Amino acid sequence: MKIACPKCNWEPDGKAYWVCSDCGTIWDTFSTAARCPSCKRQYKITACVPEAGGCHEASPHLDWYTDLDRLLEEELAKIRERVGAAV
Ligand SMILES: [Zn+2]
Ligand SMILES: [Zn+2]
Repeated sequence: MKIACPKCNWEPDGKAYWVCSDCGTIWDTFSTAARCPSCKRQYKITACVPEAGGCHEASPHLDWYTDLDRLLEEELAKIRERVGAAV
């Protein structure tokens, strides 16, 4: 699955850039689906990383998963096939 900033297309490189505002933990937010590994806070918004080549925008975490819509479409197509529904 491709992960990239919806605003500037920067792709996370697996390094720990994100800081939890509650407990100060620094981690790679894409390794935990935006959940702080220390205090378990779930983040809905993920900021881009300008110091690594990204932009200054923040986007909903799910919007970073660029193939999500396509995967969903494929799953829907399989279900439609299975039930024999007219598309
Ligand atoms: Zn935390
Ligand atoms: Zn960006």
